[in-house]
Amino acid sequence: MGILVVGSVALDTVKTPFGQVEEALGGSATYFSTSASYFTDVKVVAVVGEDFPETHIKFLKTRNVDLKGLMRSPGKTFRWSGFYDYDLNRAHTLKTELNVFESFDPLLPDEYAGSDIVFLANIDPVLQRKVLGQVKSPRLVAADTMNYWIENRKDELLETLKLVDILTINESEARELSGEPNLVKAARKILSFGPRTLVVKRGEYGVLMFNDGRFFSAPAFPLESVFDPTGAGDTFAGGFMGYLASVMDWSDPNLRKALVMGSVMASFAVQDFSLGGIRGLDYKEIEGRFKGLRGVAHFEDL
Ligand code: AMP
Repeated sequence: MGILVVGSVALDTVKTPFGQVEEALGGSATYFSTSASYFTDVKVVAVVGEDFPETHIKFLKTRNVDLKGLMRSPGKTFRWSGFYDYDLNRAHTLKTELNVFESFDPLLPDEYAGSDIVFLANIDPVLQRKVLGQVKSPRLVAADTMNYWIENRKDELLETLKLVDILTINESEARELSGEPNLVKAARKILSFGPRTLVVKRGEYGVLMFNDGRFFSAPAFPLESVFDPTGAGDTFAGGFMGYLASVMDWSDPNLRKALVMGSVMASFAVQDFSLGGIRGLDYKEIEGRFKGLRGVAHFEDL
């Protein structure tokens, strides 16, 4: 079993009101695969440049992430730099340097073609489709994206969405993608683009799920100190998809549990810069927060 993910592997320069890092390990596929690795096997398709530090590769290997699909190409690694104000729900991008991703033409290792679950993490939607097209008969396809691709590759993104079962996206991106300020209307419109299930990430306010006319809300784990929200969305997706892969059943009760698991994983990610919050978790800590979140959201009938 396991999950195949395509997305960015990056060097991030990030500033928040609580500190900053330069050229730290980041990228949508990196956060996703580290998070999902607590639940299932993960195979990564991505590209890095000659400058990508070997220590980062070693770290991903310690999480048992399969890196046969991670290419190293001449040129520089993808770089993203951004900052956050006190409103940590909103990332401000300073620079996106695609570098080796600009000419990346992925050819999947043979053993990746039989993957059952595919996660198209935030990256060029053309690349998302190129990877998905090489998987023979996936049983579950989920995707993420961001304003950069909504603004620069909307038509290509809409083509990708036709092939996707679940879309995870943040609140402002849901509004931007649909052109609808009201979230319920935005959700209905996005579901008409293809996905059966839509997950809207709302930072410290939690997550909403829309599927088959049903609506479910999970809170974020209440934390006193948040240092860096970078990667929270991808880490959420790793917990969400990782849980689904571990049970291989995406009925509504499991989707709900997966959503809570995603929130739990994201809560660890924001407690440190880069991958610091999710590098070396103990499964007991994950379970503990999962149970804690049940208490936060549970109430009796009237
Ligand atoms: P998030 O979970 O949305 O906070 O994702 C943050 C990660 O996305 C960072 O580690 C960045 O390296 C990566 N990223 C930022 N912009 C892009 C982009 N346009 N395409 C792919 N990955 C990106």
